[in-house]
Amino acid sequence: MSLLGAAEIRELAEALDLKPSKSLGQNFVHDGNVCRKIVRTAGLTPTDIALEIGPGLGSLTLAMLEEAQAVVAVEIDSRLANQLPITAAKHSERADILTVINQDALTLKSLPIDPTVLIANLPYNVSVPVFLHLLEILPSLRSGVVMVQAEVADRLAAKPNSKEYGIPSVKAAWWADVTGAGSVSRSIFWPQPNVDSKLVGFKRRETPGDEELRKKVFAIIDLAFAQRRKMLRSALSSMYGGSAAAEAVLSAAGIDPTLRGEALDIHGFCAIASQQVES
Ligand code: SAM
Repeated sequence: MSLLGAAEIRELAEALDLKPSKSLGQNFVHDGNVCRKIVRTAGLTPTDIALEIGPGLGSLTLAMLEEAQAVVAVEIDSRLANQLPITAAKHSERADILTVINQDALTLKSLPIDPTVLIANLPYNVSVPVFLHLLEILPSLRSGVVMVQAEVADRLAAKPNSKEYGIPSVKAAWWADVTGAGSVSRSIFWPQPNVDSKLVGFKRRETPGDEELRKKVFAIIDLAFAQRRKMLRSALSSMYGGSAAAEAVLSAAGIDPTLRGEALDIHGFCAIASQQVES
């Protein structure tokens, strides 16, 4: 199996007359060693069904084909989706284990096969919504590694009481334990992005409650961080019909009403959402 280097990426882009789209976050990796390292970091095994979002020209896909039992790749750009099986057949003897789906990952409802591991260099503009959407709709996803903009990686992996901690951190924590997994040099991309990238690893854990609770928890998280300098009793006042009522709910949940949202972990938000409120 040969992976894609700078020359192959250039050749493919020329053959497709591809002008990388900024709005689709099209920055392609041209370093096979980095791709293999990402796959190793994800701990992909021969029994895993790997999911890739945004395979692009196939840099990571080829490295995934080396290890997985099967690979499903979801790509929004039809030129890239159509080319990928051809590139896989040219570079790999395992092209038959690849399924390519030409679709916007945000509109995915299910997949023809249940993936166990996610490996992706996510399109930067939609990395958080795509990540959260996949965790929500694909319960078979057990773990994975995604590459995202450095600031987004820091936010996803942030813990309470840090300046990076916010909506992505708490919502991701509903589904999984998320940790930083290292930085990536800008020089491995074509075209070179003007932001830094980092890897984030995740392992799914048991969710703290059912779908009904999750929806309430996510609504509370959105309010708590909408004005992050506000104390919880005033940030949540619109939800409970005034700050006195919000204060009563917070106290019943065992949470100091003068705290800000940034002080609570996912379990704190669950404690608030679990309070029965008379309407
Ligand atoms: N995986 C390739 C690599 O590492 O070289 C390309 C990664 S590039 C950062 C992001 C890829 O995601 C592009 O191929 C882009 O067309 C695709 N993409 C952008 N938005 C998408 C979406 N909503 N759903 C699926 N793919 C998307």
